[in-house]
Amino acid sequence: MTRLLPRLFYGFLLTLPLLPSIAKCQDSDSALIHQMSDDILTRGMAYENLRTLCKGTPARLSGSANAAKAVEITRQLLLDAGADTVYLQPCMVPHWVRGAKEQAYLTMADGKKLILHVCALGNSVGTPAAGINAPVIEVRTLAELDTLGAQGILKGKIVFLSYPMQQTFVNNFAAYGDAVMGRVLGPSKAAKYGAVGFILRTLSMSDNDYPHTGVTGYDSTLPKIAAFAISTNDAGKLSTYLRLRKVSTLFMKASCQMLADVPSYNVIGEIRGSEHPEEIITVGGHLDSWDLAEGAQDDGAGVVQSIEVIRALKAAGVKPARTIRAVMFMNEENGGRGGEAYAAAAAKDGKKYILGLESDYGGFTPRGFSIGAKGAQFKKFTAWKSLLEPYGASLWVMGGGGSDVDPLSKVGAIVGELVPDSQRYFEYHHAANDVFENVNRRELLLGAVNMAGLIYLVSKYGI
Ligand SMILES: [Zn+2]
Repeated sequence: MTRLLPRLFYGFLLTLPLLPSIAKCQDSDSALIHQMSDDILTRGMAYENLRTLCKGTPARLSGSANAAKAVEITRQLLLDAGADTVYLQPCMVPHWVRGAKEQAYLTMADGKKLILHVCALGNSVGTPAAGINAPVIEVRTLAELDTLGAQGILKGKIVFLSYPMQQTFVNNFAAYGDAVMGRVLGPSKAAKYGAVGFILRTLSMSDNDYPHTGVTGYDSTLPKIAAFAISTNDAGKLSTYLRLRKVSTLFMKASCQMLADVPSYNVIGEIRGSEHPEEIITVGGHLDSWDLAEGAQDDGAGVVQSIEVIRALKAAGVKPARTIRAVMFMNEENGGRGGEAYAAAAAKDGKKYILGLESDYGGFTPRGFSIGAKGAQFKKFTAWKSLLEPYGASLWVMGGGGSDVDPLSKVGAIVGELVPDSQRYFEYHHAANDVFENVNRRELLLGAVNMAGLIYLVSKYGI
């Protein structure tokens, strides 16, 4: 006890003269973040920018005319926000087209027809022009698909994978992670056993008539079969009718195609750093969206929040020590080419990429940040928690970034993501109801406040 006293006392003396300056820093940072928050919540442009993006360019799927138009719209929004420099970064993107509206119906044992709410999964091939009419067989998991496939039962059939997102997960992203491989791997697994079509219970936590699309993949060594999603309501009906042996066949028809790659762009707006311009902080969202929707939560929200970071810093008169870039990434949904192009350029330009922060979990009430850092670097982030907690960011977890900024970790950047409340995202994700009207203005703006606060702190203190 006594032996410790002198050391403690010495430590106290050492820290004493520092206390007022630390407190002063915290006070001035707190005041600046408060000022930006007031500005964003009263004069912020994120909500109106989201309206412009969603209503002007819904269905911004890579390679589409609306994706090209969205590049021009956000270029202008970044200029309006006050970025010093705005430029386009080229990347080639896949160009998948859905074609005519998909059709699917059941022919029941009694001869009646039942129309189903379906959509093709992204990157799916079409069916033959006349469609496919075949018996349908339900599997609950990919493992069961393998078991039945090995018994030769799936040959000539349409495979219906009915695994629901599990309600027992509290975090809906964990439920999505648990279920999504069925969408990605299911079609080729079914094709391996001779199935002629694939239909997936929509990845959604709620019961309704909206089918949700999303990317699927094909094993190039196997035949490519058409892959659909079916709404949760209709998936429930299909399960019941199959159990009661009331279904004769399922008809599915689609004319989707993958066309040749086309040129497109990431859109970048920058505020140049005043002391360390070579140190780059990236904040972004993805500009492309699925073709069924306006891409409001996914990911117009992240796009306009990132633009708002630039606007709010400029409006507050911040001259950041390090360079801040807002990046609107292209092609997150069905290729990830924008994120790859950005990281490939970063690997060559001799600059130091210190942080890549993305918002791609929807514009819902912010809860905190996921940060891909460990040890002292992670502690540096959590030391800022008290400054952002008043705006909702109380959850700081070791994790990773969004898929557009993840490639930046290869060039040494720490990657992270805004973490909002997850309970409603999968009602809208990749479905026709992901529209501007389903984004709450206050929730969206509060996300921008937290992003602007964190970016400001990193720009001032580095990592
Ligand atoms: Zn997204």
